[in-house]
Amino acid sequence: MDLSERLVKERRARLAAERLLEQKSRELFAANEKLAIHARSLSDQIVEQRQVVKSALSEAELLKSQNTRFVEDLDRAHTAAVMAERRLWDALETINDGFAVFDSAKRLVSANAAWLAPLQGKVIAPGCPYEDIIRYAAETVIDLGDDTPDDFVARMMTRIEGDRIEPVTVKLRNGSWVRIQERRARDGDLVCLAVDITEQMRIWAAIDVLPDAFVLFDREERLLACNQRYREMFPDSAPLMQPGVTFEDLLRHGLKNGHVPQAVGHEEDWLADRLAHFRAADTIAENTLANGRVILESDHVTPDGGRVGLRTDITAIREQQAQLESARTAAEAANRAKSAFLANMSHEIRTPMNGVVGMAELLCDTALSEEQRLFAETIRSSGEALLVIINDILDYSKIEAERLTLRPEPFDLERTIHEVTMLLQPRAREKGIDLMIDFDMFLPTRFVGDPGRLRQVLTNLIGNAVKFTETGHVLTRVVGVDAEDGSQTLHVTVEDTGIGIAPEFLDHIFGEFNQVEDERNRKFEGTGLGLAITQRLIEHMGGAVWVDSDLGQGSSFGFRVTLPVAEDSAPVQVPVAVRRVIAVDDQFINRTILERQLAPCGIEVTLCRSGAEVLERLAKDPAYDVVLTDHAMPDMDGVQLLDNIRVAGHTLPVMLLSSNPTGLGTLAHDFAAILQKPILRSDLYRHLQGLTAPAVEAAADVAPLAQIDLRQMRVLAAEDNKTNQLVFQKMVRDMDIDLRFADNGRLAVEMVPDFQPDLIFMDISMPEMDGKEAARTIRAMGSKVPIVALTAHAMDGDAEAILAAGIDRYLTKPLRKTAIEGALAEYCPKAARAPVTAPAEDAA
Ligand code: ADP
Repeated sequence: MDLSERLVKERRARLAAERLLEQKSRELFAANEKLAIHARSLSDQIVEQRQVVKSALSEAELLKSQNTRFVEDLDRAHTAAVMAERRLWDALETINDGFAVFDSAKRLVSANAAWLAPLQGKVIAPGCPYEDIIRYAAETVIDLGDDTPDDFVARMMTRIEGDRIEPVTVKLRNGSWVRIQERRARDGDLVCLAVDITEQMRIWAAIDVLPDAFVLFDREERLLACNQRYREMFPDSAPLMQPGVTFEDLLRHGLKNGHVPQAVGHEEDWLADRLAHFRAADTIAENTLANGRVILESDHVTPDGGRVGLRTDITAIREQQAQLESARTAAEAANRAKSAFLANMSHEIRTPMNGVVGMAELLCDTALSEEQRLFAETIRSSGEALLVIINDILDYSKIEAERLTLRPEPFDLERTIHEVTMLLQPRAREKGIDLMIDFDMFLPTRFVGDPGRLRQVLTNLIGNAVKFTETGHVLTRVVGVDAEDGSQTLHVTVEDTGIGIAPEFLDHIFGEFNQVEDERNRKFEGTGLGLAITQRLIEHMGGAVWVDSDLGQGSSFGFRVTLPVAEDSAPVQVPVAVRRVIAVDDQFINRTILERQLAPCGIEVTLCRSGAEVLERLAKDPAYDVVLTDHAMPDMDGVQLLDNIRVAGHTLPVMLLSSNPTGLGTLAHDFAAILQKPILRSDLYRHLQGLTAPAVEAAADVAPLAQIDLRQMRVLAAEDNKTNQLVFQKMVRDMDIDLRFADNGRLAVEMVPDFQPDLIFMDISMPEMDGKEAARTIRAMGSKVPIVALTAHAMDGDAEAILAAGIDRYLTKPLRKTAIEGALAEYCPKAARAPVTAPAEDAA
């Protein structure tokens, strides 16, 4: 080996070393590089890890704080839950119902005070078994009735084992009622509720003892409850009456068992009807059950849409009603019989009473001692009073029985007033009082009304006025104002100058049987029914009655009625022939009435107070057509005036207006006419009209015919009653007449052609042919003979019907001698002798 070789070797070695070194340094570098990368990533990692740790740390921090809050929340929630439970129990404590919870082993968990209250005396703590508590209650608190505590407890324990626990109602020994209701909770707990239903039970107890049946249905028409009476009323359906059964089921059950007799044969219709009725509610129906009981069924809607029904057994009421009804029918029949009896009796009593009164009057006319006269007078006045009473009572009983019917018809009011006044004239004359009528000149006289009833009213008012007046006058005044439809509202007043009435009695006297009770009044007879009847009649006519009075001065009774004016109301015929009249009357009212009757016809009326004044006037101015003179005047009466007029040489006609024409007797005179006062306007006009050619010559030249040259007045009296015939005969016994009797209307008619009577007195109710028919027949025969009807009572024959039959006027029984004399004097024809002889005192 050489050096070179060594050198080469060395170099090679060095080169190899150098390559190795290079490689190693590359490797180192690479390793270094790697290390550096690694170191970098490591540090990155560290940083990262540090980050993670940091965030983990902060998370841990967060968690930690969350955890703290959670714990706090939990704490609060727990507190809230505890509080809520406490509040719940507090609330449960405040309610009146008992509330308790038992666990699944039926041991008490908790109970409120209301639940525990009835169990006082036993320590009941949580854990106490249900059964113990029930037993304690059964032994000490609950009113078990016939039940034993063991049975009760056993029942209660079995009860709560079931799935659905039925509520139970118990009565406590203190009288209250509790309804116990249990429910099982999901975790097996038993929740127990005890509700005090004492109030409800009280109401039910009350409903149960109601005498009426009570039933309650819900809005689906299912039975909710009914009382014992309901079950008793429908005993056959009672077993069916369990809560839940429908009304229709109950009805069908009843139908099936034939409990509804009226439904037999048409059950479905009846059912539909009954159901409709039930559904309509607020209705009342009557049902008769098969057992005959009558049930009043009333159904009403309850606020929740249900129906509450009440069933009342009205069998007794219906029976009572039927009894009342038949009693009423019987009473009505009895009342009718009574009225018929009254009517018959009053007729039967009146007929003989007329005989008594008439005979007594005749007896008074004979020679009697003072004492005998007193007796006879008493018989007469008592008889008359009795007749008035009978008539009043008859009328009043008619009004009471509501059998008063008005019979409106056309009639002449003025004439009616006139006739009533004329009938009262004799009594007024006896007392020396003047009767006057002032019928408004411009008023029609014919109206449509019930003339009979108005006559009755007028008779009462004017009759009272005459009765209670000793001196002075009684004035009937009629005025009217136009009302609707051609009617007139008439005011009729009757004024008197009598004893008057004290203010405190003014209302009283219109009551039934009421009279003024004082010294002055006691002597007057009467029933006290007249004004009561008057008031009832006028009110029945739609009018009113009143009275004004001054004690000791007089009274004024008035009434108001509105009556249609009769269509046939013709204007009163006005006397045309007469232009100037001189009228004398000592009474101011009479003078005024005359003036008011004449002046509107265009007649010039000169009024004088005395005969002397007339003579004075005539001396100055004789050109008057007629003198109208009053009869009775002081100083110079009408007859003397006539004489003086003739003595003075005046020939003009003189008419006498007299309250008592019969007082003239057979005195010869040449009055152109004698008119009965008060004067009927139409009569006055007729007489004035009749003053044709001056009566003067006749009066002057022809002396009055000697009475003997004249024939007797022929009078026919138709009267079936023998007593009345006798009375009549005796009354006219002193009169110069040719009197014949007919026993009935037919005989009267037959007698007319031969007998040619001057006047007929005609009884109205007679057998075979009554007075009205007889009068009609006589008129039909063409006879104008005056006919005067005789009626038993103003009401018996209705005035207009009587007048319509052709009768001229009528007199009311009992027959009065003066009335007969008046009629005879009035209707005596010129050809006959005056029938009336001078009255005894005149003759003397
Ligand atoms: P009667 O006349 O039958 O007693 P009334 O009913 O007609 O019955 O009258 C009742 C009472 O009214 C009379 O009793 C009388 O006291 C009183 N009275 C009626 N009219 C008058 C009158 N014109 N003047 C005074 N008193 C009268």
